[in-house]
Amino acid sequence: MLLTIRAAVSGTDLGYLLHKNPSRLHTFDLPFGKAHVFYPHLTETVSEAALLVDVNPVGLVRGSGGGEGLLDQYVNDRPYAACSFLSVAIARVLRSAMAGASKERQELADQPLDLEARMPALPCKGHPEFLRELFCPLGYSLTAVRLALDERFPEWGDSPYYSVTIAGRARLRDLLTHIYVLTPVLDSDKHYWAGADEVEKLLKRGEGWLATHPAKEAITRRYLRHDSRLTRDALRRLLDDEAVDPEANAAAHARTEEDLERPSRLWEQRIGAVVAALRAEGVGSVVDLGCGEGKLIRALLEDRGFERIAGMDVSWRVLELARKRLRLEQMSPALRQRVELIHGALTYRDERLSGFDAATLVEVIEHLDPARLAALERVVFEFARPRVVVVTTPNSEYNVRFPTLRVGAKRHDDHRFEWTRAEFSRWACATAERFGYAVRFLPIGPEDAEVGPPTQMGVFTR
Ligand code: SAH
Repeated sequence: MLLTIRAAVSGTDLGYLLHKNPSRLHTFDLPFGKAHVFYPHLTETVSEAALLVDVNPVGLVRGSGGGEGLLDQYVNDRPYAACSFLSVAIARVLRSAMAGASKERQELADQPLDLEARMPALPCKGHPEFLRELFCPLGYSLTAVRLALDERFPEWGDSPYYSVTIAGRARLRDLLTHIYVLTPVLDSDKHYWAGADEVEKLLKRGEGWLATHPAKEAITRRYLRHDSRLTRDALRRLLDDEAVDPEANAAAHARTEEDLERPSRLWEQRIGAVVAALRAEGVGSVVDLGCGEGKLIRALLEDRGFERIAGMDVSWRVLELARKRLRLEQMSPALRQRVELIHGALTYRDERLSGFDAATLVEVIEHLDPARLAALERVVFEFARPRVVVVTTPNSEYNVRFPTLRVGAKRHDDHRFEWTRAEFSRWACATAERFGYAVRFLPIGPEDAEVGPPTQMGVFTR
């Protein structure tokens, strides 16, 4: 992986700023490979330094201790894509520069310079705009070109990697620090577990810019590997002990699972499968339970066959977001009268849920404590009692196929459980039997011969 830094200073000055003599190649041993610093371009006015990190992928697997913190596969992008290894290399190899110290050129180290940093393969897991959201508020201009999966086969489509250049007037220490923090955030796949000391590291490196960064929640959460306890802790301290509303970033939070599943556009396939199942059952009215920001509602609105659509969620904030995303306020009266949003909890009997042909629970049951499931079963199958109930939930067997998910982890912090196909089928068959429904099962997403599809769906009818 490669990082080049171009500065509008002479080669000698850049050498002093980086504490690396420009006239030779510098090589360092790191726990996961080697780092080299050299200067591809040196003039009196503009100079460029390169940090090349040569990761040894086999060493990663075989390395000390075998297990924690090590990658568990031989084939991976770590040697090539800028990721947290790059951050470690910056911290080790350019430590003094990142600290802003320069014996011979302190005044240059302290002043903003015209800088440009280039990373030819920066992974951006999540939406592409995220790159802009991270770097632009820090005053950089950004050029990002998405790389093809394989340039020889354009029909294979895009990869999640970008060739990125950020440019701006900044102190060298700030540029290095921003790259140090934001590279693993983009990758969202740090190569070691986040521990409490990571919070300290983040707060130290984030001093002076993170607390006011508009994407501070996303940065903190991803930097801390989606560990919700550490994230809350860090945010609380960042915001100077201001109370942090646990729902404050519900929307951003909802993204984590989406990021993981994004490459396959799984959520789109899920919505498509649910709509298809509803159509097949000749359903005209639907209540979407745990509707979140309203993706299914939006799809249902597009089909006039669904005359009455309701979305229900326990989170008021998420409903507000749904209202915005669906543009309820701006809707034509004809469209508006087909849809309503209901604030309520699925574990309490609710008259408003009666009278619909179908109820859907799309990626919702796994958010309930197993002890509360029995209440949900009665609310849906006994009291609301629609003719059709569609339930989707992750197939936990498939988790091993998500390269960024650590072994044994769930797809989302808030998931209380994730079921195998057998577990889901056992629950669904018992529930159907108890309340007088029949149930059939359908896969959603690419079905793997060994571990099945990523999402499983049960269609209950009576
Ligand atoms: N169905 C949506 C959202 C899934 S996330 C989608 O597929 O995109 C799960 C949603 O269930 C969240 O919005 C959460 O607020 C909601 N939820 C969790 N427990 C709930 C409960 N007891 N009652 C109602 N909604 C609940």
